[in-house]
Amino acid sequence: DKEIEEMVDNAIKKGRSSHVREVGLIKKYFEIFITPVKDNQQKIVGCAIIIHDITHIKEIDAMKTEFVSVASHQLRTPLTAIKLFTEMMLKGDVGKLKKEQEEYLTNIYQSTERMVRLVNDLLSLSRLESGRLRIDPKPTDLNIFIESIINEVKPVAKVKGVKINFFPGEKMPKIKIDPVLIRQVVHNLVTNSVRYSSDNKGIVEINTRRGNKEYMITIKDNGIGIPDKLKPRIFEKFYRADNAVKTNTEGTGLGLYVARLIVENSGGKIWFESKEGEGTTFFVTLPVAGMEKKEGDKTLAVS
Ligand code: ADP
Repeated sequence: DKEIEEMVDNAIKKGRSSHVREVGLIKKYFEIFITPVKDNQQKIVGCAIIIHDITHIKEIDAMKTEFVSVASHQLRTPLTAIKLFTEMMLKGDVGKLKKEQEEYLTNIYQSTERMVRLVNDLLSLSRLESGRLRIDPKPTDLNIFIESIINEVKPVAKVKGVKINFFPGEKMPKIKIDPVLIRQVVHNLVTNSVRYSSDNKGIVEINTRRGNKEYMITIKDNGIGIPDKLKPRIFEKFYRADNAVKTNTEGTGLGLYVARLIVENSGGKIWFESKEGEGTTFFVTLPVAGMEKKEGDKTLAVS
């Protein structure tokens, strides 16, 4: 393995230690630490290689992913039925509803929608984690694409009194991206910027720009921000910052985890800058060369 050869070289010639979290060799998976060994004159005399077999952990992880995938898939059918029948009752298909009945049914409908979103997120992340997701890039005009996502979020923003302003960069050539995957990323970031903005005061600014090797999308809000000590955990699965839980009970903590998996699978990067109480800016880059096609039997779960 070239990477390990380089690490050994680095230890012996440059005195540098290194660590690979996961490497596949001879049908097994290993975690490897390499560190220089010095004599009492501090001269490097060789290196120590510690190889930890993590094949079993990987197998258990794959079983967990498979379980989440099957369970969430099974949950979707009954949820769809609940949603459909509630919708029919709300439309008055089985008679006129009393005010209280309508109120309760609306509540059931909204909770079911939330559950469908959660189940879809779980299904999507199990598909991303198992590597079974297909990537199907199509030449896309990034500015038109992003504008269409903003238009989808605008009704929600309007209810909350949050303004969304889009500043498209100069006209860009079409980029090859998988629209289903990148839509999920941008939709999540724009929804978050609205969700974590103050009612009637929020302003969200979205920019696109082309660099030499990458396209950059920025989503800036003047919302609640992310507390410094919680920043390192924000992309973790199910993680939600305390200030977000307080102001908004609806989130699942899965959106950014899924977004990061998608962006990293697309050869891009995602990061943020934030100040508590002042606002947050998320940055996404995608390579100008576009995403690479990948065969797979699944696509993202979207409702
Ligand atoms: P959710 O929004 O469903 O909770 P995400 O994975 O999308 O889950 O986001 C994880 C957490 O990151 C949020 O709960 C919140 O604490 C923080 N966060 C994300 N976007 C923003 C933002 N624009 N402003 C402030 N906090 C944010």
